[in-house]
Amino acid sequence: MLLVAFILGLLFGSFLNVIILRIPQNESIVFGASHCYSCNNLLKPWHNIPIISWIFLRGKCSYCNARISLQYPAIELISGLIFLVIASKFTLSLPALFIALSFLMLLALAMIDFRYKMVPDSLNLVALFFAIIGTWNLDGMLLNLQNALLFGGGFTLLRFALSYYLTSSIYRAAQKSKTSWNKFYDRTPFVEAMGEGDIMIAATIGALLGVKLALVAIFLSALLALPVMLLLLRRSAEEQRVPFVPFLALAAFVVYIFDSPISAYIEANY
Ligand SMILES: [Zn+2]
Repeated sequence: MLLVAFILGLLFGSFLNVIILRIPQNESIVFGASHCYSCNNLLKPWHNIPIISWIFLRGKCSYCNARISLQYPAIELISGLIFLVIASKFTLSLPALFIALSFLMLLALAMIDFRYKMVPDSLNLVALFFAIIGTWNLDGMLLNLQNALLFGGGFTLLRFALSYYLTSSIYRAAQKSKTSWNKFYDRTPFVEAMGEGDIMIAATIGALLGVKLALVAIFLSALLALPVMLLLLRRSAEEQRVPFVPFLALAAFVVYIFDSPISAYIEANY
């Protein structure tokens, strides 16, 4: 049974590679056969077997010998493992499939944010949708929806407050530096504290984990991101914009796997 889940995960991972590659380029994910991005030759079915093809071709295109990124087999393997872990938690079932698909969408969002510093709305909505329906009854779905609203709303308020604080502190700093030369020249920028995409991810995490565990996941994601941010402290402002989705997605999955010990710890201590 776990082998079936793993193979299913590999196949979905193969499709996830198509999503990661094509959505940032605005290409259709359904139409258009797979092709080599160097020589444009169409791939044969046996070039598309998850992981095995990559090993068999030694990571090279069979037409032009262009290198095929390690990203493809890596995404397939991670997808297989996500399915394996969730199947071992719940056995094979439709809700478990929806939960696994929601985490797969988070994986795609993490990769796209990491590589292109963008968070596509379409994937975000699909991730949230699967997170809400990934449960065994209607009450569960309503609870998931409620938690999604709570985290989406909470993060919207947080962003509003932080953006106000950052914008007004820059405005005050600008007021102090006013001279008779630039006093009519007001170009204080509006600073956004976080992206809209992060709010949607928070809503998805709320639906997947419930209030307490989602808070733990978001705290954990900040802890994971902190060393990276400190490393980038001396870099330019553009380089300092750390893609946050990979940390959110990783933290959500870790908390999801270890939900019972974490819940037990919270119950015992708070
Ligand atoms: Zn090629």
